[in-house]
Amino acid sequence: MIDLHSHTTASDGQHSPEELFTMAAAAGVTVLAVTDHDTVAGLAAAQAAAAARGVELVPGIELSAFVLGREAHILGHFLRPEDPDIARFADTLRAEREQRMKQMVEKMRKLGFPVRMEDVYALAEDAHLGRPHLARVLVEKGWCVDTKDAFDRFLGNGRPAWVDRYRLEGADAIQLIRSAGGTATLAHPGSSKMNRAEIALLAKAGLAGLEVLHADHNPSVREKYMALAREFGLVVTAGSDFHGEKVAPGRHLGMASMPPELFQKLRARASA
Ligand SMILES: [Zn+2]
Ligand SMILES: [Zn+2]
Repeated sequence: MIDLHSHTTASDGQHSPEELFTMAAAAGVTVLAVTDHDTVAGLAAAQAAAAARGVELVPGIELSAFVLGREAHILGHFLRPEDPDIARFADTLRAEREQRMKQMVEKMRKLGFPVRMEDVYALAEDAHLGRPHLARVLVEKGWCVDTKDAFDRFLGNGRPAWVDRYRLEGADAIQLIRSAGGTATLAHPGSSKMNRAEIALLAKAGLAGLEVLHADHNPSVREKYMALAREFGLVVTAGSDFHGEKVAPGRHLGMASMPPELFQKLRARASA
């Protein structure tokens, strides 16, 4: 099985790269891409873990970007993990996330909730600082019933503690991935409700693939994006988007898989 979308503890995944590849081997996955959100920090460990278990690693990333003002996720595959541009970009994003968190914490304090950055760091450890961590602090302190309540009342877009985030344009995300030797693929177009105009724009900017075979896409969604992939000459890819049962229940490695011919087709675009 070939599965080109998964997450580790380097972003919001539940499992370390070692655990992930143990599970992949047990599930019969022969090729697995590690595509953590906005970071390549897990790839070195993933490389060692994959080699030890006889699974092929595709070094990847999943970038959050904006297309015509709407958020889209763009997967990079076949990246050079040590590429300096990618590393610099990840550092910038980490700094941006920290800055944004400080501003949100400050807003919460002004609203009368004495949150401290230490509380957030204690939950986030090294991974991917984000609103879910702050939400969990608010729940733990007893100020919110659950994380949904925290987002509804304080942290959601337009709510009192909301802070705008750094916006990477879709075309720039594609450019970044390509300059690091990789191919750019639009992740879960169905779940992101991407339309034809948005896909056309990305295709023009150098998109190589469309993740038609995503774990969350039902047959009619797959059919719709299969047609768009054909129209724009994009390679159809497959991804389980596995995060671990606790983070994203019901998804398992290899539940979406693609034929080797398509995998080779995508790989061929990496060096083109
Ligand atoms: Zn995504
Ligand atoms: Zn993902």
